[in-house]
Amino acid sequence: SLAFFNGEFLPTESVVIPIDERGHQFGDGVYEVIKVYDGKPFLMREHLVRLENSAKAIRLEMPYSVEQLEDLIHEGLTRAELRDAQVYLQITRGIAVRLHAFPDAPPSVSMTFRPSKSLTEEVFNAGVKVALLDDERWLNCYIKSLNLLPNVLAKQTAADRGCFEAVLVRDGYVTEGSSTNAYAVKDGVVYTHPANKRILHGITRAAVLQVAAELGIEVREELYTPEFLLNADEAFLTSTTAEVLAITQVDDTVIGTGKPGPIVRKLHAKFRELIG
Ligand code: PLP
Repeated sequence: SLAFFNGEFLPTESVVIPIDERGHQFGDGVYEVIKVYDGKPFLMREHLVRLENSAKAIRLEMPYSVEQLEDLIHEGLTRAELRDAQVYLQITRGIAVRLHAFPDAPPSVSMTFRPSKSLTEEVFNAGVKVALLDDERWLNCYIKSLNLLPNVLAKQTAADRGCFEAVLVRDGYVTEGSSTNAYAVKDGVVYTHPANKRILHGITRAAVLQVAAELGIEVREELYTPEFLLNADEAFLTSTTAEVLAITQVDDTVIGTGKPGPIVRKLHAKFRELIG
């Protein structure tokens, strides 16, 4: 597969990152994952604008404009000869002898271009099981930062319990998944955590809220409890890679009928129309 590091496109295996790279030593950077469907990076502008916002939030100056990044992504996809792909893009505070304070160094930009790893239709049709876990992250979850240790630990605990995802709970309310946004559906209304500092403002989330509006499905961006989720008629996750994915079980509790419900299926179908 193909990678990009600080100005050069290279085979992924041959890229060597210097040991004093701040992404490596501090997780001092931000990232995005963009999915490419049939040659078209989906919602690329939205992802790159969020990247700019994440960078700004950690006082990291973007070395490229959104337009320049779009050109680099298209160039990478062409060079990699990929039509259905996942682009990973990260920007760090660069390469400098390890000291916490900001270095006087240019930011590093790295990207990988890989064939997409989509969930199978079987998974979408069956839905997934999730585990409720404490949200142990910091207070700036709206920043798509490289510091993913709490997310990694939560995902692994979920996986150890045979679950696809960890759904996180902070101060008595469901926030989001370890790498997804989370939703509960009750009496035809979709509930999801407000887009504040406690969750990542998912690009898929924004698209799905748009799709819900078009379908006349009411959405309330409100706090809801784990108990509310357990008693929901339907529940689901969204992300760039998981699209709209039904939750059919939370720990030992079956949600609704135990199958993806009508609202989740409608939202996913309409979301797929958006993909084209
Ligand atoms: N929440 C978290 C913590 C994430 O890491 C992600 C994406 O990976 C999401 C939500 C979903 O965001 P998006 O729809 O932009 O992929």
